[in-house]
Amino acid sequence: MEFSLTDLSNPTKENGEERVNVLILGSGPAGLSAALYAARADLNPVVLTGMELGGQVSLTYTVENYPGFPEGVGGSEMVELFQKQAERFGARVEFDTATEVDLSQRPFRIQTYNTIYLADTLIITTGATPRHLNVPGEKELTGRGVSYCATCDGWFFKDKELIVVGGGDSALEEGIFLTRYANSVTIVHRRDELRAGPVLEKQARENPKVKFIWNSVVDEILGKEAVEAVRLKNVLDGSEREYPIDGVFIFIGHIPNTQLFEGQLEMDPMGYIQTDKWMRTNVPGVFAAGEAADSRFRQVITSAGMGAAAAIQANHFLSEFESELEAAGEIDS
Ligand code: NAP
Repeated sequence: MEFSLTDLSNPTKENGEERVNVLILGSGPAGLSAALYAARADLNPVVLTGMELGGQVSLTYTVENYPGFPEGVGGSEMVELFQKQAERFGARVEFDTATEVDLSQRPFRIQTYNTIYLADTLIITTGATPRHLNVPGEKELTGRGVSYCATCDGWFFKDKELIVVGGGDSALEEGIFLTRYANSVTIVHRRDELRAGPVLEKQARENPKVKFIWNSVVDEILGKEAVEAVRLKNVLDGSEREYPIDGVFIFIGHIPNTQLFEGQLEMDPMGYIQTDKWMRTNVPGVFAAGEAADSRFRQVITSAGMGAAAAIQANHFLSEFESELEAAGEIDS
């Protein structure tokens, strides 16, 4: 890799290209925490929000496991607070999305819808997107009874009958949330044992509106204008039946939003960016944090912690680089 030795002082804009010390891709808890730490290190970070300001947590009704909020806090409110705090120290948040990246030399070149950034360090916090079932009817009926977001769409299902697909924490948490609106929420799980933790399992089992269908998968979603039924398949005996329903909420995990970096950064077989314990990727100066790099914890607090760590490391990286420049006599010490 080639390193260009250039001045790391304030960001500059020339020929439609903007030079920045730290560019952060993504505005969820990881991105905004990285922005806070980078801003407090006087690095004038720029955050590109991506298509979804605040990431997945902004679609969460309430977050109850982030310390400091004993009564819980709304997901979008939390993101607003994160952003305000980062901006207070000089972070700049741009409603823009990276479309192309070139990590083959520094500064890294990031093309967006509006401009080109030349970034001395890059922090990738692009998060993850809900996994789809990929069954007939799913795509056609998305937004017409098929949903991946209880907070966004639950309200449309007042007094309706719903199914939730999945057996993890998300399925149970969102399923319980949906009982605020729906008459009944039936959790369809492909095994006879939940993946979700015991607290959520207990809450779900004690909720009179929650039912379970075990050892079953949704093979097809049926309906003309809107969802009318699903075809359920019993995975033990292969039998199938049509199950009338008003809505299908799918919570079966996530896919990391890392396609933009394929071929440039090392990833695991699932597409999560590989980092070391210091959030460093295989490209010096590129760091990754949050759900783009973490398939295991996926909590607001762990993502925020990873974001902060990535920014601390970016600062170290830039300081070391600055020392190199000084030694080379290219900037005044
Ligand atoms: P997850 O833990 O990966 O669970 C996905 C669920 O979907 C599993 O039950 C899985 O079944 C099922 N599944 C996967 N592919 C499927 C398919 N094609 N058809 C049918 N079912 C399928 O994902 P998650 O629930 O989104 O949770 C992700 C992480 O976030 C976890 O670490 C979780 O603890 C965390 N989280 C925590 C909270 C909280 O603490 N309040 C809330 C939400 C999420 P199998 O079990 O058979 O694999």
